Amino acid sequence: LVSRKKKAENTIVEIKGEKVGDGKTHFVFGPCSVESYEQTAAVAKSLQSKGLKLLRGGAFKPRTSPYDFQGLGLEGLQILRKVADEYDLAVISEIVNPAHIEQAVEYLDVIQIGARNMQNFELLKAAGEVNKPVLLKRGLSATISEFINAAEYIMSRGNGNIILCERGIRTYETATRNTLDISAVPVLKQETHLPVMVDVTHSTGRRDLLLPTAKAAIAVGADGVMAEVHPDPAVALSDSAQQMDIPTFDKFFEEIIEVDRRLKN
Ligand code: PEP
Ligand code: MN
Repeated sequence: LVSRKKKAENTIVEIKGEKVGDGKTHFVFGPCSVESYEQTAAVAKSLQSKGLKLLRGGAFKPRTSPYDFQGLGLEGLQILRKVADEYDLAVISEIVNPAHIEQAVEYLDVIQIGARNMQNFELLKAAGEVNKPVLLKRGLSATISEFINAAEYIMSRGNGNIILCERGIRTYETATRNTLDISAVPVLKQETHLPVMVDVTHSTGRRDLLLPTAKAAIAVGADGVMAEVHPDPAVALSDSAQQMDIPTFDKFFEEIIEVDRRLKN
C-alpha cells in the first residue's frame, strides 16, 4: 500500500495547515524530553515567533539505561497539549506502548513511533487503527525494506497518514552518534509515496553537524527536517550534547530557510 507502484502521486500529511509532502520543507523542533511547562513553553514561544507550527517533545522516553530520565509520561503529554494550545502549535510525541495509543490521541496531533520501536508490530498495528498522523522513525539497524514494511503495517490497518523519518543507522563509525543515511531519502521517495523527513539531531548526535546535515536533507529532497531545541541544553535531562539553545536555534533557522529558499526556487 505504501509503494509508489500502488499510488504515483505523493501522499500529503496535513498537520495544522502544514501539508507535509507538498514539496515545501516542513520543520519540527522541540526538546528531546518534556521536562516542565516552562521549559516546553520557552521553545514553543520561539517556534511561534518564527511562524513555525510543529512542536516535538518526548514524554515516554526509550532510554538505553533504566537509571536515566524516563520522561514525564502522561503529565508530559498534558504539558505538550497545554503549550500547543497556548502557542497555536501542533504536537508530536513518541508513544512506546500499544495500550497508550488510544489515550495519546486525545493529546497529540502526531504519534511518533521511535527507532527502537520500529518493529514493535503490536504498536504499529495500534497506530494503524487510529485516525491520527504517525511519524515513523527508521530503526537503528533497519534496512530500507524493513522500514517500508513497518510503514506497511500501519497503513494495512487503515491509517495512511504516515511520515517516514530517517534518523541515522548504526555503523562502525564513531565520529557521529549514528550514520545519517542520506541516500535513504531519495530511495524512500522513489519507492514509496510517503513524505520523508530527516532527524538531524539523533542521526549526528553533534550540534556542530545539525546545519550541514539539514542542508543535505533539503538538497536530496526531504520533505522536512527535525531537530532538538532546549532553552538550556547544559541542564537537559536527555541529549544534552546535541540540543540547540534558543540563540543557536535562531541562527540555525535563519540559515536553513535561506538555503531552503535557494534550493527550492
Ligand atoms: C526522539 O526523537 O525523541 C528519539 C528518541 O529518537 P529516535 O527514536 O530516533 O532515537
Ligand atoms: Mn533526543
